[in-house]
Amino acid sequence: MARLELDSVTKRFGEGDGSVLAVDDVDVDIADGEFLVLVGPSGCGKSTTLRMVAGLETITDGEIRLDGDRMNEQGPAERDIAMVFQSYALYPHMTVRQNMRFGLEESTDLSDDEMDGRVDETAELLDITELLDRKPGALSGGQRQRVALGRAIVREPKAFLMDEPLSNLDAKLRSQMRTELQQLQDDLDTTTVYVTHDQTEAMTMGDRIAILDAGELQQVATPLEAYHRPANQFVAGFIGEPSMNFVDCAVEDATLVNEAFRYPLADEVGAAVSEADDATLGIRPEDLSVDPAADADDAADGGHAFDATVAVVEPMGDENVVHLSLADGPDLVATVNGLRRIESGAEVRVTIPENAIHVFDGN
Ligand code: ADP
Repeated sequence: MARLELDSVTKRFGEGDGSVLAVDDVDVDIADGEFLVLVGPSGCGKSTTLRMVAGLETITDGEIRLDGDRMNEQGPAERDIAMVFQSYALYPHMTVRQNMRFGLEESTDLSDDEMDGRVDETAELLDITELLDRKPGALSGGQRQRVALGRAIVREPKAFLMDEPLSNLDAKLRSQMRTELQQLQDDLDTTTVYVTHDQTEAMTMGDRIAILDAGELQQVATPLEAYHRPANQFVAGFIGEPSMNFVDCAVEDATLVNEAFRYPLADEVGAAVSEADDATLGIRPEDLSVDPAADADDAADGGHAFDATVAVVEPMGDENVVHLSLADGPDLVATVNGLRRIESGAEVRVTIPENAIHVFDGN
């Protein structure tokens, strides 16, 4: 049972001019049993945040609490928290059983039998019983990853911290382990903070995701909220693959104006940006519709459809990623059904549906 709170947590490395503000005033309240994914580009402060929770890094400012108790001054061993690293950090000279027992010997006063019982139970849960007498050198990457998880689970900590634990695995194993980790989390129900730079991992695994950029928290939300209602343009561009299209526009009379088009805004959106000189139109590739130019019906599209040329088509199987050039204007990326034949060089009509657009103003 553990609620984990980060309250205005700040980390500055070094002092004076050369110092680095790695984590800037981060607030997150992680519920008991929640799986929170901390996600953002390389260097945004994810690992530093996690390491402050683990006690591996001092906290410059703010407070971290576990079940209401301040942890700032506790060393890593005093915190009832287990960390799983990207590098696995297994002891090469110890067997799997010894590796798993080692953490228990350090952090609990269980008897030998009790420790063995816990190791056996955890090994069964992770399906690594037959590996208990091997040394890490005789294991595959995926098996090592399981042992590293086992070493954390066996301690029955109040919280797990995971720093890119799947990034050393190949794509297939990574997606398999992703599912296994989710199942494990459902079974164990232990509060988990999981760090990744991979938005797909964040979207598929997190109960909620916390998106960081340059040390600052951008949004904490469920994956679907972050996808459909991004707090700002950074989140909008980071979440979703292929990325959201952005088109810089001027604002004139509740209309977005660009060298290629004039895009009238619905009243409430138009009112929201009417004071701004410029704004960015955001549209997800899957929300664009691409039709043969001959089907164009200018009267019906409300000024939201434009002529374009297909520059490149990337067939991905279930979908085609279509790169479009608007006449005299921006390039857009659209995804369309993989069964559709669409050729590069084709003249098309692209519709930017009014109900799917995002408008970012002043960020
Ligand atoms: P991420 O995990 O998101 O890739 P990090 O938390 O590792 O990012 O780093 C955040 C910022 O802090 C980066 O600018 C990084 O260079 C800096 N940083 C991390 N560790 C140290 C350190 N020990 N000393 C100085 N700067 C550091």
